[in-house]
Amino acid sequence: MDFSLSDEQKLLRKNTAEFLEKNLKPFVREIDNNGEIPMEFFRKAGENGIISPLIKLKYGGPSLSFMDSVIISEEIARIDTSMATSVYYLLNTSWAYVLQKYGKQELKDKLLPEIANGSKFIGIASTEPSGGSDVANIKTTGRIENGKVIINGEKMYISGAVEAKKNGGGHLTLVKTKEGVGHKGITMVYVPANADGIEITKLNNMGRMGISTSGIKYTNVEVPEENIIGEINEGFYYSMDGFNHARIMVAAACNGLSYKMLEEGLNYIKERKAFGKHLSDFEAISFEAADLRTDVEMAALLNYKAAYLADVEDPDFYIYSSMSKLKSPQIAMDTTKKVMMWFGAYGYTKDSGIEMAARGIFSYLVGAEGALNIMKVIISKAILK
Ligand SMILES: Cc1cc2nc3c(=O)[nH]c(=O)nc-3n(C[C@H](O)[C@H](O)[C@H](O)COP(=O)(O)OP(=O)(O)OC[C@H]3O[C@@H](n4cnc5c(N)ncnc54)[C@H](O)[C@@H]3O)c2cc1C
Repeated sequence: MDFSLSDEQKLLRKNTAEFLEKNLKPFVREIDNNGEIPMEFFRKAGENGIISPLIKLKYGGPSLSFMDSVIISEEIARIDTSMATSVYYLLNTSWAYVLQKYGKQELKDKLLPEIANGSKFIGIASTEPSGGSDVANIKTTGRIENGKVIINGEKMYISGAVEAKKNGGGHLTLVKTKEGVGHKGITMVYVPANADGIEITKLNNMGRMGISTSGIKYTNVEVPEENIIGEINEGFYYSMDGFNHARIMVAAACNGLSYKMLEEGLNYIKERKAFGKHLSDFEAISFEAADLRTDVEMAALLNYKAAYLADVEDPDFYIYSSMSKLKSPQIAMDTTKKVMMWFGAYGYTKDSGIEMAARGIFSYLVGAEGALNIMKVIISKAILK
């Protein structure tokens, strides 16, 4: 067993960190205020191969591994602690992976190069107003006729729809193509966000302001049959494959954020004094720091294992990605909360930046990429079977 990163991975971390320090850090506050990540950033990130790293060389991507993608995800979250850029990145990475694995050649040739160069966004539209956890019970329909899929229905809490409509891109969308057979009647279709018949309503989120979350209404939206991903009625399985891989990236982002919060917290408690001593001299605080550092280390190791298993295509990788998605957001929230308390009143101000991270991390606690209880459903089923 080797716990070290390869020389290439160390270089990837260093180069990514330097790139983000220069091209993302100056805009993070502005992004949180104005709710928009500059397209210029994505284009430069595309040039540097860090916007959708799993895309293969033949489609213009860098053909990196899941473990490499985890490194990039950690570094992005360290810089944009609002998690907005992390979400954009993880969607582009995971759902481009699904398109690359199951999509038709023509669609891949058309979309993947533009996703890899940062000019197009790709996300997932699964959740509906009636619920997100119970994917098998979606109601949006897809009627297949005359070489087209005609879509009617509604999706909810969908990330990136506003950006995809404005800048180009769309969502792998789950539609019901056969009634009465639950998850065996679902098809995945790529739907561009600017297709006729689509109405996007932006929701008012509490955090991760740099990427929109929206309701999408579909009224007789027509897309060509070539946009069907893989086989008809197999879409549920492709979406589970995507979610299982996306959860590795979510957890990596949470871990990157935890490391960053802890780093800032440790610097602060070594400087700040109370009762004539540094805060770090009080065991109530230094022991908390020891606990947090241990938790983050455990979370990162579990995440690296999930990424490793995904890279070697171990069929059990999904158990580890679910464990990782279960623990990392909770540890990130705990770390953020405790560091905020170390900062005292300053932690509650926008100047400290801690509140921005807290607002962002909540999205992973409540549901994005799967609710925590659903991770427990997956893990318990796997270990009890
Ligand atoms: C910021 C943000 C961005 C998102 N982006 C996207 C996106 O891009 N695309 C997309 O498709 N979706 C997106 N979602 C939706 C997300 O996938 C859902 O929030 C998630 O699947 C949960 O669905 P729900 O919110 O409808 O909650 P529900 O499914 O209604 O669940 C509500 C609560 O009940 C619990 N629960 C449900 N079933 C069980 C069970 N069997 N046992 C125990 N507890 C259970 C859940 O854990 C949860 O706490 C996003 C969500 C957020 C918050």
